[in-house]
Amino acid sequence: MLYLAILILLLLLVGASLYLLVCVDPNSPGFLGDMNRFVFFTLPETIKKICGDKIFGVFKIGIKYFFFTNHPIVQIFYVIVAMGGYLIYFFFGCFTLFGNNPFVSHVDTVIGSIMAILSFYSFFQACKYRPGIITKENNQEYVKEFKEYYDNVVYLKDNQCSTCNIIKPARSKHCRVCNVCVSKFDHHCVWIKQCVGQKNYKYFVKFIILHAMLCDYGAYLGFRCIWGIIVKENLFEAKIKDPYTGQTLKASWSIIIMHLLSKNSIFIFLIIMCIIMGISLTCFSIYHLYMIGKDTTSNERMKRSEFLKFFQEETSRIEKSLKDAKTQEEIKELSDKLEKIKSCKNRTISAKSIGIWKGLKQVYNQPDELDQKIKINNKKKQ
Ligand SMILES: [Zn+2]
Ligand SMILES: [Zn+2]
Repeated sequence: MLYLAILILLLLLVGASLYLLVCVDPNSPGFLGDMNRFVFFTLPETIKKICGDKIFGVFKIGIKYFFFTNHPIVQIFYVIVAMGGYLIYFFFGCFTLFGNNPFVSHVDTVIGSIMAILSFYSFFQACKYRPGIITKENNQEYVKEFKEYYDNVVYLKDNQCSTCNIIKPARSKHCRVCNVCVSKFDHHCVWIKQCVGQKNYKYFVKFIILHAMLCDYGAYLGFRCIWGIIVKENLFEAKIKDPYTGQTLKASWSIIIMHLLSKNSIFIFLIIMCIIMGISLTCFSIYHLYMIGKDTTSNERMKRSEFLKFFQEETSRIEKSLKDAKTQEEIKELSDKLEKIKSCKNRTISAKSIGIWKGLKQVYNQPDELDQKIKINNKKKQ
């Protein structure tokens, strides 16, 4: 049981780190940018060199299946870890630890249970409602709604999606996992097995904020619970007998921790899980609230950064050539190119700060979209 707990903990740690790294811009300088480039570019290349093409091929198929197909593995993992964690935490805590603890009461069981039920319900909603799938029937509505965002740099007017055979509305993207075009595409989320876009962004944000709060509360409650055990058992004053010298010594911090671990291993494992997930989800929630205030999406932040990198490289390349240019014609041609690039850079979508409340209102005023509506639309066409 303890080994299984450690395995789940490690999986969560790796999963949470990968999930955070996916959101980091690979072009950004600093530690997180370096980590992103290492995990997604350097590491696969090194594995390829070490293992050879055959083993790397199997590794690639596994990665492709896990990240680029719609499978229910992560959803099943969520149900086991979230619901199992809740049941162990509160039933174990309720019957054994909370009642006799000076710092925790059954009010905590009630508060924790309400938060858990709301969180599980938010997961169900995030999985149920669709992101704003663009079909031939609703294509024009989406094109009109986002027409002011066409900048002819990142979002080209009248650009077609060759798979869906529709005109791409600005801010939309074709998801290669779901194989549909999604309005105001944010990212494809493996936890909810679908894209996050215009219509379900509110459910996704609710899902991550509620889970961040649940994990943070779980960690805080766990600390109080452990502190209660230390105080109740008077562990600070505990004495131990040295097996070699026979002397009676005051128990050190490491001995107190070992004692707590041996008696409450599963409970402490759950607290560590809450801390890891709490920190990851709180950072992720703040990141999404920041984007809501800026009226932008994860996809647009990535695109903007790629374009800015391209513009910078092109500008410095042309400026260098300008210095070496000899004839008037050459200078004119390069200057025109430079002007063109600068005008493109100015036209590129830039994040407009609309404020968090206006942003939240905009996100929460979106109507719901269910599968049924899309099927009905498609049927009408046939
Ligand atoms: Zn498409
Ligand atoms: Zn998708």
